[in-house]
This record gives sequence, structure tokens and C-alpha cells, in this order.
Amino acid sequence: MMTSSEDPRLAVISTARRMNAMGINVNKSGNVSVRGQLGIVEGFWITPTGIDYEELVPEDIVFIAFNPDQAGQIHNLRLPSSEWLMHKKVYLRRPDVAALVHTHSAHATAMACQDRSIPAFHYMVAAAGGDRIECAPYALFGSEELADVAARALSERNACLLSHHGVLAAGSNLSKALKLAREVENLAQMYILTCQLGEPKVLTQVQMQEVLARFKHYGQQK
Ligand SMILES: [Zn+2]
Repeated sequence: MMTSSEDPRLAVISTARRMNAMGINVNKSGNVSVRGQLGIVEGFWITPTGIDYEELVPEDIVFIAFNPDQAGQIHNLRLPSSEWLMHKKVYLRRPDVAALVHTHSAHATAMACQDRSIPAFHYMVAAAGGDRIECAPYALFGSEELADVAARALSERNACLLSHHGVLAAGSNLSKALKLAREVENLAQMYILTCQLGEPKVLTQVQMQEVLARFKHYGQQK
């Protein structure tokens, strides 16, 4: 039997289960994908719609071809997550991204429900690749419009909030995308706590540039 390091489908399943075990997602509200290849067809593996993560087996994981003309060569047992187009558009826009984790984690989603971005109140905001974590405008779940706003929000960052919806985090592998989704939730929780103590002070652009430069040096953004 293949291990998750050899079979991308097993890696997707274990990431989806870890996402829920970590407390950053509930039931089947989020989804997970990883860039891959099936035969000569390039695309990505993604969690299916409507199946509990605990029940998932590799055959349930859906492969989506980047080129729609090649879709006929792929035979999936299940239907993909309703947000498959959001994942596809991010992969096409960001060749350096190899994995995506989407959650409805509580604190980050609470901020997204207020259309609030996470400012540079803490240096770890730079983990998403910039001096703030933006909230992308609202669009209907599963829509092409949502796929477009999410891909735009991730064009130069590795994480964003999705208005009235949740979080999208990207990485060069599943482990990094999952860690970033967890970090965004942690930052949102700390930000909400900080706001309870008064108006948060934010780091200056110069201070955040220093952090970003340091992160790049240590490769922490990858
Ligand atoms: Zn969602």
C-alpha cells in the first residue's frame, strides 16, 4: 500500500482530517487540494463533495485537469468540492503554489463576516507574504466570481480571508498550506483579543518590511 508521501490522494485525506482535528474546520465545510499529474494530464487532486473526511478512501479524491479538453481522459468516482474552480484558478495564476487549504475556522471567519482584513498588529501577519491579510470581496460559494476574487487575492499573497465565508491558504506543499491556515486562525483570534483591550497598534511599513525580509532569508514563506 502506498503511503501519503507517495500517493497524493492519501496526503489530501490526511490533511483534511488534520484540519478538523486541529479545530480549524468543522464537518465538510472546507476543502483541500494538491497539484499533481494523472498520466500525462496536469491538474490537481481535491476532496469530494458530500463525504465525511473520516470515511474518505483514495478513490473518493477527485482529479481535475487544468485543460478542460483533457477532462474526458479522467474518470472520477465522485464529484469534486463545490469550490474546485477556486482551487483551479489559484493554481493557474500561481505556478509556485502546489497545495491549497480552505477552512471556515471560527475567528478568521468572524473577521471575514465583518469584511475586515487582518492588519500588521503582529509580525506573524507576514507569514502570508505581506503586511496584512486581505479580505476578498463577497461572492456566492461555488461561483466563478468567488474563484476570481480568491485567485486575485492570492496573486501576491499566500493567504486571504473570504468575505462572509472563510479562509484560503496556499503553500508549496500540503503541510505548509495547512500550517498557514492554522496561523491565520491564530492571528485572527489574537487580533480579536487585542481589539478587546483597545484600538490595536499596528507595526509600521518599515517594521513589516524588516520582518518580510527576515522571513525570506529563513525561507519561512515557502
Ligand atoms: Zn467554504
